[in-house]
Amino acid sequence: HRKRGAAPRSGRADPERRARATRRLRLQQALHGVAERDELVVVYQPLVDLRGGGLKGFEALLRWTHPELGAVRPDEFIPVAERTGAIVAMGEWVLERAAEDLAAWRKGAEVTVSVNVAPIQLRNATFAERVGAILTAHGVPPGALTLEITERVLLDDRPAYTRSMTALRELGVQIALDDFGTGYSALSYLSRFPLDVLKIDRGFVAGLESDARARALLEAITGMAAALGLRTVGEGIETACQLAQLAESGCDVGQGYHLARPLPVDELVPLLDRVWETGGPDAEAPG
Ligand code: C2E
Ligand code: MG
Ligand code: MG
Ligand code: MG
Repeated sequence: HRKRGAAPRSGRADPERRARATRRLRLQQALHGVAERDELVVVYQPLVDLRGGGLKGFEALLRWTHPELGAVRPDEFIPVAERTGAIVAMGEWVLERAAEDLAAWRKGAEVTVSVNVAPIQLRNATFAERVGAILTAHGVPPGALTLEITERVLLDDRPAYTRSMTALRELGVQIALDDFGTGYSALSYLSRFPLDVLKIDRGFVAGLESDARARALLEAITGMAAALGLRTVGEGIETACQLAQLAESGCDVGQGYHLARPLPVDELVPLLDRVWETGGPDAEAPG
């Protein structure tokens, strides 16, 4: 007989599900051509060197405010934009902004910027070329840009991903594997894909305080990353304790609300000539 719940539900519509579908459709329509309107903004979250305590750079994070829907969270609109393909134009817009900002900042400081890239962008055969053209147009050295790709791309092991990643690295762009530890990656992938950085997922960092096994796993991950020549970034650091544990385990870079929130460009500029002690922006500034 059929499994319970597998039978098609006819007639009586689940109102919650219908509301979700309506919302999704609304977002889909609203996202159409969004990069050509004035609704997108990039905010930047500081990345802090866990050894020296200095500011390493920033992760560019997209923000969307629709005139009627208001601010929509990336966790809600990114998946929709990925499904419709709208993310391609949005992603290109973010890259342009990031390259322009990076060019301005690098006149005064050796900062780097990380930009998130959706799998559908990476699959495009001309993606690496586009990235190279944008960097050249803004006079940004490729080594100052890191592209973050989600662990999900390792799931379906398409040659298009590897080709793009290889071409990007040949350009000199760094590749980070985002959300590492969320459950998709087999360890063998880490050596098969051309990577420079592992970003240890926030869900994983959250377990560090209460769970001794999480700490053991962290040691294993940083050890393995070091053996493979990968740098590590711990994301979602919300407490001093998590920060200390990541630093102790040899994690290279930290990111999280405990260190700094994502900031609009005008609030971030004053940070550029400041060197932070490990412990974050509130710690005593040297000198
Ligand atoms: P992500 O790339 O893993 O980015 C880190 C997310 O964690 C950001 O959420 C950031 O604001 C949040 N975060 C940072 N520190 C903390 C912390 O201490 N605690 C907690 N709870 N969260 C923290 P955000 O900005 O909402 O972005 C969510 C996701 O949306 C990103 O996850 C990324 O996958 C995606 N995304 C954001 N901007 C872009 C973009 O321009 N392109 C693409 N393709 N995806 C993007
Ligand atoms: Mg990211
Ligand atoms: Mg991440
Ligand atoms: Mg994440």
